[in-house]
Amino acid sequence: MISTGIVTVSYIAATILFILALGGLSNQETARRGNWYGITGMSIALIATVLGVVTDNYVWLVTALLIGGSIGLILARRVQMTEMPELVAILHSLVGLAAVMVGFANFMDSGVHFEGVELTIHDIETYLGILIGAVTFSGSVIAFGKLSGKIGGKPMLLPARHWLNLGLLLAAIWFGRDFVIQSAAGEGLTPLLIMTAVALVFGIHMVMAIGGADMPVVVSMLNSYSGWAASATGFMLNNDLLIVTGALVGSSGAILSYIMCRAMNRKFLAVIAGGFGTGGGSTAKGGEDQGEVVPISAEETADLLATAKEVMIIPGYGMAVAQAQHIVYEITTGLRNKGVNVRFGIHPVAGRMPGHMNVLLAEAKVPYDIVFEMDEINEDFPDIDVSVIIGANDIVNPSALDEPDSPIAGMPVLECWKGKTTIVLKRSMATGYAGVQNPLFFKENTRMLFGDAKDSLDAVFKTL
Ligand code: NDP
Repeated sequence: MISTGIVTVSYIAATILFILALGGLSNQETARRGNWYGITGMSIALIATVLGVVTDNYVWLVTALLIGGSIGLILARRVQMTEMPELVAILHSLVGLAAVMVGFANFMDSGVHFEGVELTIHDIETYLGILIGAVTFSGSVIAFGKLSGKIGGKPMLLPARHWLNLGLLLAAIWFGRDFVIQSAAGEGLTPLLIMTAVALVFGIHMVMAIGGADMPVVVSMLNSYSGWAASATGFMLNNDLLIVTGALVGSSGAILSYIMCRAMNRKFLAVIAGGFGTGGGSTAKGGEDQGEVVPISAEETADLLATAKEVMIIPGYGMAVAQAQHIVYEITTGLRNKGVNVRFGIHPVAGRMPGHMNVLLAEAKVPYDIVFEMDEINEDFPDIDVSVIIGANDIVNPSALDEPDSPIAGMPVLECWKGKTTIVLKRSMATGYAGVQNPLFFKENTRMLFGDAKDSLDAVFKTL
């Protein structure tokens, strides 16, 4: 056992480390250091809690830690880079589930005694913790299903769905009142259970109603919810570190949701209300014949690249699937040695999670100073000789700009078609995540290099 003073100091140290971690993670060059701050902070927090706060049941604790830790380690080692978003979603669901379980355990714990106003406050904390936890849990499970393709991307739009949501919200408030009143008389399990069911249904309905194209916002929103759930649990357990850490996760998730909304030109409330990004592709011109596509060979691609002065590489989800980042790096280095100015243009929602492309490019050691965000380079396309689109689709779809009824209408995209030549690497004419056909493929200055992105780029590299 260590004293409460040491626990408090350790918690403050962990809090500072978490803040430094967030600061570090905001920049690629400092991200690695940020990660270490986070790991150190979490280790200090765990040790201080185990040695200072827990007083009993060590066997249970250590057994649970070992089981949970091993499952986490095995999963994280096995998971492919392309499955990261699903892993993140399912981990959020566990945070929600933990908040629900801790809430119930705390409510049933006969050792917890409060009176009067304190009891009311504690009850509200418990109620909110379970409520947010349950929404996070069921919402994240559905998000996991949608991201892994087990559930279709099409939004489920029930008739009168806004009324249903309003009804669920009112029910949650009503049972909350009921719970606080009953709890004063030593009861209250029934309203708590009913609210949990209501919250679970709400979480499912909320995420089911969101279309494929808006999933990035949902993932970051659930991230934020998991933080608030942890924070509410912190209040319930009177644990300062949990309150602060939860608030950090909650607010950074909320800021990320805001950034994603801005990147996709969506209103946050409209995303939550659901229905965008139909995922069917039938509303846009998708079904109509848009003309012929012109294929290109790897050799011709290599020639075009070697004779270009300005090259823009636009990676998307397909680069992650093909694991083509390393060969992209080799080609980039080769071209740069020949004096070609190669840059990367990154769309904020490219891939399947925020920062997905940056992580892959950093892994392949592509220099940070040639990787640009969409806003920084979108004006430059008229001067680009060759744009290479590696497994990207929705983020370079011109119909986002000129088809008002497209599911992705209004989303800013990388306007590569304004350059001299665009080469698109993909395996087929299949649509991307949002399920809409892409008129870019049919443009006069577009060439299609069909095949797995890694195989195609290997062939290009050989010729170069
Ligand atoms: P898209 O999903 O629009 O397109 C990816 C393309 O890659 C597909 O058209 C596919 O075509 C191609 N592809 C797949 N595998 C390979 C391969 N092995 N080799 C070559 N090509 C391949 O991805 P984008 O990155 O353009 O857009 C991201 C989309 O995901 C957006 O709609 C965004 O809203 C959504 N999203 C983003 C999230 C985020 O946080 N970033 C989270 C959730 C969703 P083909 O099958 O013909 O090869």
